[in-house]
Amino acid sequence: MNKQVLEGLNKQLNMEFASAYVYLAMSSYFEGIDLEGFSAWFKVKAHEEMFHAMKIYDYIGDRRGKRDMTAIGLPVKTWKSPAAAAEDAYKHECKVSESIHKIVEVARQHKDHSTEAFLHWFVMEQIEEEAQADRILQKVRMVADNPGGMFMLDNYMVERAKADAANVGKDTESEGE
Ligand code: MG
Repeated sequence: MNKQVLEGLNKQLNMEFASAYVYLAMSSYFEGIDLEGFSAWFKVKAHEEMFHAMKIYDYIGDRRGKRDMTAIGLPVKTWKSPAAAAEDAYKHECKVSESIHKIVEVARQHKDHSTEAFLHWFVMEQIEEEAQADRILQKVRMVADNPGGMFMLDNYMVERAKADAANVGKDTESEGE
């Protein structure tokens, strides 16, 4: 595999694990403020990120590339409000998309069609990830100063967590939001 392409994939491998850590920190934050639905949902997100990481881990091995495991950065651990946490989650997904798009460009530059095809799954997945994070953010903003609304939204998140947990690890592009 081309050195730059491999570097990009290794960087992404780290970023997916770092994402799991970010979402686990969010899950813990929401648990601490008794929003168990959000806590459960972010925990599912953390699992999903580990699944993303393992996909890249396997791919690097399949291409006989050298995996470069590097230290995972410390996540932010507290937020001033649920809306601030949800905003960070959305921004984080945008950053992940950008990173994946960059590796696609490098793969294309080096005519690495296999990596480009492999990353196609991630490109499509990110459309969903961004949309999902944005929807949650908008809902949190809607009820920001309304405890009753937040209570109801948290109950909704319990159901979301259950539904999304059933999809983790399903290796399809059409998995539901
Ligand atoms: Mg991911």
